[in-house]
Amino acid sequence: MEEQLHKMAAEAKEALARADSLEALEEIRIRYLGKKGELTRVLRGMNALPAGERPRIGQLANSIREVLEKELAERTAEVKARFKQARLAAESIDITLPGTPFLPGKKHPLTTVQEEIEEIFLGLGFSIAEGPEVELDYYNFEALNLPKDHPARDMQDSFFIGPEVLLRTHTSPVQVRTMERTAPAVPVKVIAPGKVYRRDDDATHSPMFHQVEGLAVDRRITFGDLKGVLDVFAREMFGESTRTRFRPSYFPFTEPSAEVDISCVMCGGKGCRVCSHTGWLEILGCGMVHPRVLEMSGYNSAEVTGFAFGMGIERIAMLKYGIDDLRLFFDNDLRFLAQF
Ligand SMILES: [Zn+2]
Repeated sequence: MEEQLHKMAAEAKEALARADSLEALEEIRIRYLGKKGELTRVLRGMNALPAGERPRIGQLANSIREVLEKELAERTAEVKARFKQARLAAESIDITLPGTPFLPGKKHPLTTVQEEIEEIFLGLGFSIAEGPEVELDYYNFEALNLPKDHPARDMQDSFFIGPEVLLRTHTSPVQVRTMERTAPAVPVKVIAPGKVYRRDDDATHSPMFHQVEGLAVDRRITFGDLKGVLDVFAREMFGESTRTRFRPSYFPFTEPSAEVDISCVMCGGKGCRVCSHTGWLEILGCGMVHPRVLEMSGYNSAEVTGFAFGMGIERIAMLKYGIDDLRLFFDNDLRFLAQF
């Protein structure tokens, strides 16, 4: 019986050494150590032994069981480790490969400046109005006191789509649309930011650019209100020490009209190359809404007055950031855009 046990142990050890999969190891466990396995079968013959022999054989059987169990556990661990190694090798990732750069997005400088302008006027009680970019001749010109034969139409080279339809040349049509919607009620206090289109293309003009239009209509609005509002705007936009200057000008839709200059943001008014040594920089056009414009939009010009102003967002951004070529805004060169 002792011999049988040793023989079985040797067989089992050999089988364990050969096994190279978890399935094979499990088969060996069932075959030798299982409830109906070899070891149990041999031990069943114990009854036939003389009583004095039994403890020794029992001890031997137990130690063989322990040895086989230990060996089985070791082989199982080995096989598992080898499988894991093989899987890792198959699924390996080369972490030395350069990654795809992930560039964070940021706002275009024109968007930033437009939002700044909006913030300032929202703070002054204005709200934001919008209108179509493909506009009727009536709103773009006629309702703004620019009848078909008016020579001032030449000031705004236009993209016509049909005889009565064009790409708006300024944001002023939004004034008219807003007044038509509101009249005869007052007050109207809006700014209208947006894209406008003219047939121009050089260092300071682009066929598409951005304007912000402002309009206030109420009883007893005066030129003093206009000056006050634009003065606050200039100081908030360009700094507390910024001064404004109003020069008489002409626009068909305002009377009287003015161009507004600010003290040069580069030299503070002493005179430099940027301000052509005048100490002043032109930033916008403005005036009191022409009575005829008020009437055409449904207001009684004897009862209400209003002021309006319009500025180019590119112009404001160029002054604010010291940019001398407007085309940089539209080239989409990341070396330029990344600076803002
Ligand atoms: Zn200057």
